[in-house]
Amino acid sequence: MDQKKTMNVDLLVDAWYVVTMNESRDIIHRGSLAIRDDTIIDVGKTSELETKYIPKRRIGGDRFVVTPGMINTHIHITGEPITRGYVPDDTPFMENVFVWLCTLYSVQRPEEEIASAKLASVEMLRSGTTCFLEAGTILHFDEVFEELSTIGIRGRVGSWVWDIPPEPSVYRQSTDQAIIKLQRQLEKYHCPNDLLSAWSILVGHTTCSDPLWKAAKTFSDQYDVGMSFHMSPAEMDPEGFITSFGQRPIVHLADIGVLDHKCALTHAVRVSDAEIDILAEVGASIAHCPTTALKVSYGITQVGKFPEMVQKGINVSLGTDGNNASNYSDLMRAAYLVAGLFKDAREDPQMFPAEKAFEMATIDGAKTMLMQDQIGSLEVGKKADLVLHDTDRPEWRPLLNVMNQLVWSADGRGVHTVLVDGKIVVEDYRCITLDEERLWADVQSMGEAVAGRSGLPDKAKYPTL
Ligand SMILES: [Zn+2]
Repeated sequence: MDQKKTMNVDLLVDAWYVVTMNESRDIIHRGSLAIRDDTIIDVGKTSELETKYIPKRRIGGDRFVVTPGMINTHIHITGEPITRGYVPDDTPFMENVFVWLCTLYSVQRPEEEIASAKLASVEMLRSGTTCFLEAGTILHFDEVFEELSTIGIRGRVGSWVWDIPPEPSVYRQSTDQAIIKLQRQLEKYHCPNDLLSAWSILVGHTTCSDPLWKAAKTFSDQYDVGMSFHMSPAEMDPEGFITSFGQRPIVHLADIGVLDHKCALTHAVRVSDAEIDILAEVGASIAHCPTTALKVSYGITQVGKFPEMVQKGINVSLGTDGNNASNYSDLMRAAYLVAGLFKDAREDPQMFPAEKAFEMATIDGAKTMLMQDQIGSLEVGKKADLVLHDTDRPEWRPLLNVMNQLVWSADGRGVHTVLVDGKIVVEDYRCITLDEERLWADVQSMGEAVAGRSGLPDKAKYPTL
């Protein structure tokens, strides 16, 4: 009698609301998604989909708001997650980077970097992030890549590459060594059809010679991958480039042919109007890390030009950076911040509406990662990367305006279930692809060991009795 109901699917996901982030930004009331293997094959009203499909499993229901998986376009998955919060929050920028962070990174062993990467991944998944772009600061790349593949998160990664700073000695690389390292990483780990794959990633700032910048760009073209680097969070980068080349960083990188639409620049707080014009012209993306900017006092509300960048058509997405500059990896908290910072700074409530903030966390992040045809929205043919937000929580009720409450009321703690590539990786608030209790114990003992080996003092201000 029910002739239409003949199609088998692996999963039917039901929701109170489905936030699609499709072209017309449709929100489907009483909606569902049909998933086969790793792909969304239908999105629509529950009443329609339940008559069309025979699912192997059906999840979700009236209590959930379903969104695309979020995309964190700048995070250090090693180095800092395992030393989270050890750096005092009143540390000046230069001391923060060179005395604290470089030291804490440099003493880490492979098993500690692996645990750190797992911790970052679990934190991202449990707060609704399904894809990330690593900052390019993994020291023990082979070991981390292999273990990370078991977690089920999507990501683009890279190892520590620079050629100018001589210290700390553990990072020292000649230009040739740095180029070979980058090339080897791409040869071995460029697997764009897998969840994890390598990108052409440099540390950036003033740490790279022109030959290294150019080599990274050549690899980006050769392997058709993105190129990512830090640039201009503080005056140090523009001052360094002006001293060396008589040009601001983005002007110089454009002049030597490095900048194009595949570039993702992290921070970009101290940029001139001419640099913004160049970024708009080449179509580069910016990874904005609002928490880092606040905690490390970059001055974004004073000098940041993110509204102007967006106005000029530059794609700006979100990152959470390292866990000593931004102690969390919950992208919903970063979206909340970006929705508020410039409303206040410019005394204009129309700056970064909730809808735009959530675009930055999803579809704009997909553009930064050059994956907008695969992720960032819930549409037929895209990967089944999605999040079920639990509305049976005080911050979600009453639910009267989904986007407003998604950004301004909710955060990652309300994430109940997460799918990546059609597979459930978080269920009932727990990551099911690893032993969480074991991880908590491991990172505690390893974090204490790393802090001890670093020789850096415990600067917690209150006496611990
Ligand atoms: Zn960073």
